[in-house]
Amino acid sequence: NFRCRSAFKLLEMDDKFRLLQPGFSVVDCGAAPGAWSQVAVQRVNSAGTDPALPRGTVVGIDLLNIPPLDGAHFLSSQDVTDPSMHAKLLELLPNRQAHVILSDMAPNASGFRDMDHEKLITMCLSLIDLAEKVLQPQGSLLCKYWDGILTRTLQEKLSGVFGGVRTLKPQASRKDSAERYFLATMYRKPMK
Ligand code: SAM
Repeated sequence: NFRCRSAFKLLEMDDKFRLLQPGFSVVDCGAAPGAWSQVAVQRVNSAGTDPALPRGTVVGIDLLNIPPLDGAHFLSSQDVTDPSMHAKLLELLPNRQAHVILSDMAPNASGFRDMDHEKLITMCLSLIDLAEKVLQPQGSLLCKYWDGILTRTLQEKLSGVFGGVRTLKPQASRKDSAERYFLATMYRKPMK
């Protein structure tokens, strides 16, 4: 009863890397229709389903409307790449900080592979600015990208501010698609 098949990709990656722990605060970028948020709510216990565990927080953001979900706050009709959205987001996070940023964002595909790749990489790069605002030191970022010439640029930028960066291709992701994920861990907040 997940809203979308993409849930299985996150479940698979989280089973392996234990990114989402009870009590954690999670920002889910490009959250509509809400399947990743469903997984996050379960894993961080943000609906309080297990009273013995700490209760986490899930905030989802999307350009589209995200149907309500118990345990999640949604910012619908919001652009993740627009810094004027950051203030609203911070208000919803305990201590104005997140442990994890997830992004399954994708632009509307034009069908021109290089162009779509570049658009998505630009969106991923904006997540580095978002991290500077909301991600706590030692926090993690998991982001989807489409592989291409700028993959290395993104990887280098992530390596500049995260202690570890690995490339993931979950089994649930079609073999013939360019879809990949970067898992960046051990965030180091840049000095101002
Ligand atoms: N992870 C979601 C789930 O499991 O239900 C599926 C996400 S879908 C593959 C990609 C989403 O990214 C779309 O809903 C799209 O509207 C959103 N998106 C694209 N650009 C965005 C932006 N700049 N800000 C916020 N959301 C964006």
